[in-house]
Amino acid sequence: MIQNSIQMDTAPIIGVVVETRDLSKIYGGAEARVVALDNVSVTIRTGEYVAVMGTSGSGKSTFMNVLGCLDRPSLGSYELSGVDVSTLDDRALSLLRGRFIGFVFQGYNLLRRTTALENVEIPLIYQGVDAAERRERAVAALELVGLGNRLDHVPNQLSGGQQQRVAIARALVHRPKLILADEPTGNLDTRTTLEVLDIFDGLNARGMTIVLVTHEPDVGARANRVLQFRDGGVIADGSFSDVFGAPATLAVAP
Ligand code: ADP
Ligand code: MG
Repeated sequence: MIQNSIQMDTAPIIGVVVETRDLSKIYGGAEARVVALDNVSVTIRTGEYVAVMGTSGSGKSTFMNVLGCLDRPSLGSYELSGVDVSTLDDRALSLLRGRFIGFVFQGYNLLRRTTALENVEIPLIYQGVDAAERRERAVAALELVGLGNRLDHVPNQLSGGQQQRVAIARALVHRPKLILADEPTGNLDTRTTLEVLDIFDGLNARGMTIVLVTHEPDVGARANRVLQFRDGGVIADGSFSDVFGAPATLAVAP
């Protein structure tokens, strides 16, 4: 389907999921010009787990929106799995997004009157997967996040942490190349945050590439790599301790 609508003139570079070069995003006209992203050049390889950190307004969500093909760069280039998104029209861009990306949001974004199982089947409906296979894959995804016993619950019958786990199952059911999560634990208490982070660790251990926005050091410390943003630019890129100059402060028993 997508192969027909996207012309690939070069083979994808094996192992590179995200490649931005001098990526800038500028909002507004001459009067109210905001440089939300300023010359960002970042390469993210298959299997990386990246935390995007930085103060409010530093460009984190704009970066995620461009990576997720929800927004286009103003200047510079972005290649997602070897596909140069600037060459795509809106329809091809949304096909690419549906095929390659799984999103997890702070507010879960589940359909409220719809069961966990049906919520997780949605990305597969868009891909035209038949009903029997949809059900089988959605059940497997819910089992992977520990909710095999909650298939027929609707969101308000589930805790916040359980709802976020349904959202993670929905994000991975179509086997995306990249999971993008913007403050996924922002609404959760400490215990539930740990449950969700354990799921991300498990997915990453199976090879899933994850990019997660957080302002919480304990969350960022779980990633293998931190990109720190300021004023739309990346001011530090390395391990958590490289970037913050201290080892992760997660509990070590005396
Ligand atoms: P963060 O997620 O790090 O808090 P954002 O990416 O949301 O930052 O925003 C970066 C900058 O771009 C901010 O100054 C913000 O006000 C501005 N911005 C974001 N979205 C828009 C928009 N749609 N129109 C105008 N300015 C925007
Ligand atoms: Mg934001």
